[in-house]
Amino acid sequence: EKRAKSLLYLDNVSVCFDGFKALNSLSFVIEPGELRAVIGPNGAGKTTMMDIITGKTRPDTGEVFFSDTIDLTRKDEADIAQLGIGRKFQKPTVFEGHTVWDNLELALNRRRGVFSTLFYALTGEDRDRIEEILEIVRLTDRKDELAAYLSHGQKQWLEIGMLLAQEPKLLLVDEPVAGMTDAETVETARLLREIAKTRAVVVVEHDMGFVRDLGVKVTCLAEGSVLAEGSIDFVSNDPKVIENYLGR
Ligand code: ADP
Repeated sequence: EKRAKSLLYLDNVSVCFDGFKALNSLSFVIEPGELRAVIGPNGAGKTTMMDIITGKTRPDTGEVFFSDTIDLTRKDEADIAQLGIGRKFQKPTVFEGHTVWDNLELALNRRRGVFSTLFYALTGEDRDRIEEILEIVRLTDRKDELAAYLSHGQKQWLEIGMLLAQEPKLLLVDEPVAGMTDAETVETARLLREIAKTRAVVVVEHDMGFVRDLGVKVTCLAEGSVLAEGSIDFVSNDPKVIENYLGR
């Protein structure tokens, strides 16, 4: 019943590395179109959870379903990306020697299995989509510049734009505001809220000001399972969260 309404459904997921339980009966459910923040101390299992969702790691036990019926534990990483799960790692990986526009064009072509801007002519629709993404990530006025000249924050936004060009149904974002200025951090919250109007987004972040600013449901992980889940006020006042994470 809960699974039927969900976009992403993890139930009782456990995974062991050399006898160490990185995930311990983890349950985690994302509704379609939801924006969720995930917090927790180092070693809590946040990265491992992302790895399970994207097929990089297989769970030892438990269920992982996408769109109710798709069993992700039976899919490999490439299949899962194809299903519409995008992942943004912490460090930006844009093509610095290409323009902002070409980076987005490359990402759009990649979705079609074309790995160059040279061999695929853009349709008018493609151009409109790139313009739209440039607006969303606020890089319209930088579109003809080399990505190398963008600030760290702008590179992060460009990479998010590149992921958007692949039209994921679920976007996983790892510590996007690390190293950003305060203004960029505020802008990133706006950006993620806007993106989540058309897809689900899960964002792992340590910056509590940013998480508060996002204003969404928060999941705090510790020792491989959910310590607390709810509004930021609920979670940040939970004694277990204070003891294991915030109070440290
Ligand atoms: P977080 O992202 O919350 O910091 P991780 O998911 O990276 O936590 O790690 C959870 C625990 O699992 C850590 O103690 C880490 O050392 C361990 N771990 C993660 N991946 C591996 C792996 N491939 N092999 C062995 N141990 C791992």
